[in-house]
Amino acid sequence: MAREKAKDPSELTVEEKLKNLYSLQTMLSKIDRIKTLRGELPLEVQDLEDEIAGLTTRIEKINNEVVELKREISERNNNIEVNKVNIARFKSQIEQVRNNREYDNLNKQIEYAELDNQLNEKKIAEAKTLVEEKTRSVTDYNMQVNDRRTDLDIKKSELEEIISETRAEEEKLREESKNLELTIEPRLLSAFKRIRKNSHNGLGIVYVQRDACGGCFNKIPPQRQLDIRMRKKIIVCEYCSRIMIDPELAGVRLDSPVAEKPKRRRSTRAKKAETEE
Ligand SMILES: [Zn+2]
Repeated sequence: MAREKAKDPSELTVEEKLKNLYSLQTMLSKIDRIKTLRGELPLEVQDLEDEIAGLTTRIEKINNEVVELKREISERNNNIEVNKVNIARFKSQIEQVRNNREYDNLNKQIEYAELDNQLNEKKIAEAKTLVEEKTRSVTDYNMQVNDRRTDLDIKKSELEEIISETRAEEEKLREESKNLELTIEPRLLSAFKRIRKNSHNGLGIVYVQRDACGGCFNKIPPQRQLDIRMRKKIIVCEYCSRIMIDPELAGVRLDSPVAEKPKRRRSTRAKKAETEE
């Protein structure tokens, strides 16, 4: 296949090597952009799912508390009924007492039962207030869950859309870059990959832009720029180690040069310090 037709990578000229490397960079940057595009969405989907799970747990907990409160209310209502029956019985017994001791005793029992019912009524009122409050917050949380579910559905379909839209493109790019990698010397390729990995923007090879490195924007001395234009050896940026390529070879059309000098100028001392690093 393509592999058989390709020349031995070590036989390629520097110019060809740089060109291949730059094509590879272009493909890998496209893959990086696809990854960034959907990179945020899986996280957002995960966050929403976690939030819904948290809210659902909270709702369950409150619902259990409501069940417990309602159980307490019915228990206290039963107690009230029992006390009422007892009070009625004590009141009928009191009609037939034979001595003061019995009379006092029954009176005390009635008093206790009445006090107990007052307490039951108070606790029932408190529990009912709590049930109302908790029911209201369950309604609020349910509304929040519905909102998050709507968001989740939107994010999920966005993600699915991106994945289905970019899947073919990504697979094609991966396939092409794999083939291209075969045309690059292993040593150069691994150096390139290492630079790319250490670079925040994933650029391992950059072109000269306004007399500066297109990766770190440090000035490139005229002699070095000339060497890059000659395409006779692989030149790296002395500040960021990125591989340098002549814009023309990279197929880049640069904007017409700006007459004014760059605003930000680096002192020779700063340059020197970085070179020594
Ligand atoms: Zn640089």
